Amino acid sequence: MQQKTQRIISIALVALMCMTLAVIKWRSQEMPAQHITYPAFLEKLTSGEIAEVNLTTSQTLTAKDTEGHSLTFDNPRMDNFKHMLLLSGASVTENTGDAVGYAVLLAAVLLGAFYLKKKNRQSERGFIGSIGHAKESTVPSIKFDDVAANEEALESLRDLLSFIQSPEHYNRFGARIPRGVMLYGMPGTGKTLMARALAGEAGVPFFAVNGADFVEMYVGVGASRIRSLFKQARKAGNAVIFIDEIDAIGKKRDNRSDEREQTLNALLSEMSGFRDQDGIVVLAATNRIDTLDEALLRAGRFDRHIEVPLPGLEERVKILTVHAQNKPMAKDVSLKDLASQTALFSGAKLESVLNEAAILAAKRNAESIETEDVNRAMDHMLFGMDRHGIASIEREREITAAHEAGHALLTAILLPESNIKKVSIVPTGKGAAGYSMAIAPERMFHQKQELLHHIAVALGGREAEALLLGSERVSTGASNDIEKATSLAMRMVNEWGMLPQSDDVYLFSQSQKDQAAQQWLKLGQNLAASVLSRYAAAWEDITAMLLSLESIGNHEVQACIANNDISA
Ligand code: ADP
Ligand code: MG
Ligand code: ZN
Repeated sequence: MQQKTQRIISIALVALMCMTLAVIKWRSQEMPAQHITYPAFLEKLTSGEIAEVNLTTSQTLTAKDTEGHSLTFDNPRMDNFKHMLLLSGASVTENTGDAVGYAVLLAAVLLGAFYLKKKNRQSERGFIGSIGHAKESTVPSIKFDDVAANEEALESLRDLLSFIQSPEHYNRFGARIPRGVMLYGMPGTGKTLMARALAGEAGVPFFAVNGADFVEMYVGVGASRIRSLFKQARKAGNAVIFIDEIDAIGKKRDNRSDEREQTLNALLSEMSGFRDQDGIVVLAATNRIDTLDEALLRAGRFDRHIEVPLPGLEERVKILTVHAQNKPMAKDVSLKDLASQTALFSGAKLESVLNEAAILAAKRNAESIETEDVNRAMDHMLFGMDRHGIASIEREREITAAHEAGHALLTAILLPESNIKKVSIVPTGKGAAGYSMAIAPERMFHQKQELLHHIAVALGGREAEALLLGSERVSTGASNDIEKATSLAMRMVNEWGMLPQSDDVYLFSQSQKDQAAQQWLKLGQNLAASVLSRYAAAWEDITAMLLSLESIGNHEVQACIANNDISA
């Protein structure tokens, strides 16, 4: 149906172009019109010699006399000119002036040409008609070994490997097989690289498309392209399908076009049409998982989510090492130093620093890449950012470190049974500047005091910022924490009847309840502030450690506390 409409449009446009050309040709062949003065025209009009006048807004008007000769005369631009013409018995046609007319014709020609060109380009790429070649359908030569760092993400991908290779095996056990995997993380973190590595490792063809290619396509083309992509993959038997930048087609529904809607629906229906024996997985990548339509992330679709974070310090060393392998690096170049200067750099950026350094060394005709080349490459990389930008990134890192150190310290002191897994100032793919992860012991009942401590831990990030900057200059980084603390305080009051001051479990009005919850929050905040100032030295050490190592664990946090023993 859609294709039929398109065909009609294209035929109509071609016809219009031909007609336009014919009209232009015909016009140029027409006998030249005789130009007469306005009074002469009026004379002819009153004597009934004018048969037809074409009214336009242009400077000269054309008319035909009763013998069929064309005349032109200056447009009098009179308000009731038409009224006068009609009274005289001449017939009046009205259309846009010649200039405008030509403009319209020209626009039609251009539009037609553009449409045909676009259509051409599309069929060059192979859809419409024989519809559909993915950009690539060979087995990539990349393996998991080519991906440095990203250990957790790679681990999840390894799980998929044996499934792609032998789906029958899983079938026998009635296992529901993961079909759709969403890789999310900032640009340049290696999502495409890992998708290719999965296909390379499994030794199956890799079919890749980019969501951005589907934008501004004609209705129906995207959908048929998706269908043909899957058809090809099925033909190959076992395969990896990769949809890069899926946000271009999978954004939340509010402002999606018809075309995207159809493309997305085609994708979803293809994914639900997998047969058990197909050894196909579909990987998609996005920088912004929070902007995606939930329909995409539901069970049976892209229900496995793998975060691909920015590399931390150690991981940067590994990535740099991989990319330094095929380059003649001088002995004195320290990849460790380079890693520590490149906080928040993605894998792609790290690769390009080394590449830039290699180019500089080659220009110098040097034997190897020296520290000097690396430093200059870094300068080039940072050139786009002005001093101020760099300074403010540094400042943000400090604030994040102080904030996360606050959570960590308070967890260690107030919730000693919790297990601190990781404290980090590496931003996550979900928009957090840093995080601290602690696992609380599983328990049936929670005590009032313990719950208060949880509130204090949650508010500890903000309190730490206040300690660093003064309470007037805290950041917006704590909004999540405050939400968490508030909802806990509300539950304490509403569900568990816990009040800060009395044993009374009955509160009669909403405002009484709100007041009680507020008191809990205030108590939690004060507790956080007092612990932070008691352990200020330990908190500062944790902050400093986070700034240099970026991610630390329980061990480091405990060491900072022990080194600043306040009982001594
Ligand atoms: P994304 O798809 O997440 O935007 P890419 O996979 O396109 O990122 O990464 C671009 C390039 O950056 C890769 O081709 C590779 O050279 C380099 N790179 C990124 N992450 C890594 C990594 N973990 N290990 C090795 N190289 C990496
Ligand atoms: Mg990519
Ligand atoms: Zn926080």
